[in-house]
Amino acid sequence: MKIRVFDLTKILSVFLLAAACSMTTCAEGTLPPKNIILFIGDGMGVSQISAAKIVKGRLNLEQFDVSGLLTTHSSNSLVTDSAAAGTALATGYKTNNGVISLLPEGTRLKTIVEYAIEKNKATGIVVSSSITHATPATFLAHTGSRKNHSEIAEQIAQSDVDVLFGGGWGYFIPQNIAGSLRSDNKDLLAEIKVSRQVIQTEQEFLNLSSVDSVVGLFAAKHLKEAKFRQLSLAQLTAKAIHILAAKSESKNNKGFFLMIEGSQIDWAGHQNDEAYLLSEMLDFDAAVGVGLDYARESQQTLLIVTSDHETGGFTIHNGSLNNKRISSSSFASTRHTAVMVPVFAYGPGSSLFSGIHDNTSIGQNIIQYINHSH
Ligand code: MG
Ligand code: ZN
Repeated sequence: MKIRVFDLTKILSVFLLAAACSMTTCAEGTLPPKNIILFIGDGMGVSQISAAKIVKGRLNLEQFDVSGLLTTHSSNSLVTDSAAAGTALATGYKTNNGVISLLPEGTRLKTIVEYAIEKNKATGIVVSSSITHATPATFLAHTGSRKNHSEIAEQIAQSDVDVLFGGGWGYFIPQNIAGSLRSDNKDLLAEIKVSRQVIQTEQEFLNLSSVDSVVGLFAAKHLKEAKFRQLSLAQLTAKAIHILAAKSESKNNKGFFLMIEGSQIDWAGHQNDEAYLLSEMLDFDAAVGVGLDYARESQQTLLIVTSDHETGGFTIHNGSLNNKRISSSSFASTRHTAVMVPVFAYGPGSSLFSGIHDNTSIGQNIIQYINHSH
């Protein structure tokens, strides 16, 4: 009799487990992820990833379960720039080259960050360029030209983003202060300090304990190249995730959106500099690893890794897997190219990113997930 009861319990528990599992599968397909982390390798094509894999062996990127390809053309050009491609990723709409999150005729496009703030999610942007540069600007500002750094800085100062890490303090301080890149007397850092902690040195970053929101600008313009930099993209990413996760937990448990850009992969491509390219790629992949660690632990985090365009028409002619070495490579140009870029996704909601799509699908999918979150 006892055995029978046990058997029944066992059968019931197996049945319940099966039901729960099917619910989990269902939830993965339909419930939006709580947290979304978007990594953008600026100028990162398949060749750049191949090169990093040859010298590293195994990339963190290889642990993603879903991959696809994206077309990158802008509204007015087969070959996009980072402003138009960033706008596609940040808003789900195409625009002309040079334009920051506006339609070509000037209509303002709501960004992922704005949707996330509306849904009471914590938000963050981490880059290795100036925070006013085209890619981060498309998530934080709206303007007709990527060159309007001063105006972009003003819009960033007024935004409610919780964590900003990168360079560019020169655009936030009045013209009479050394290092200023402004041509007026606005003191945007003073404005930001009213509501958020501002840090400007690596030491302040390392000493940062529990904060709710922080703006860390560690260079007047851009951060140094990865090999000369005191703070890696991985360190900045880990801190940003920690702050945003803690903020979400202590406040309303609505989760967070974080964008991290390996900004200088593109510049290495423009300069046709393979060593620079590899060090930026490895810095970027290490940051992706930090995201993966968090996503595995949280189980409610969607990770997306993609690029805005390929730069340099880079290719690899020869090398050795055993010696982890590239012996012959070349660049076909010093500019962006029109080839498709890869996208990788991991975690709840990742299946949407499989196959060949346009780059606008990234912004559209993320916005859809944010709008359907509770
Ligand atoms: Mg960029
Ligand atoms: Zn570029």
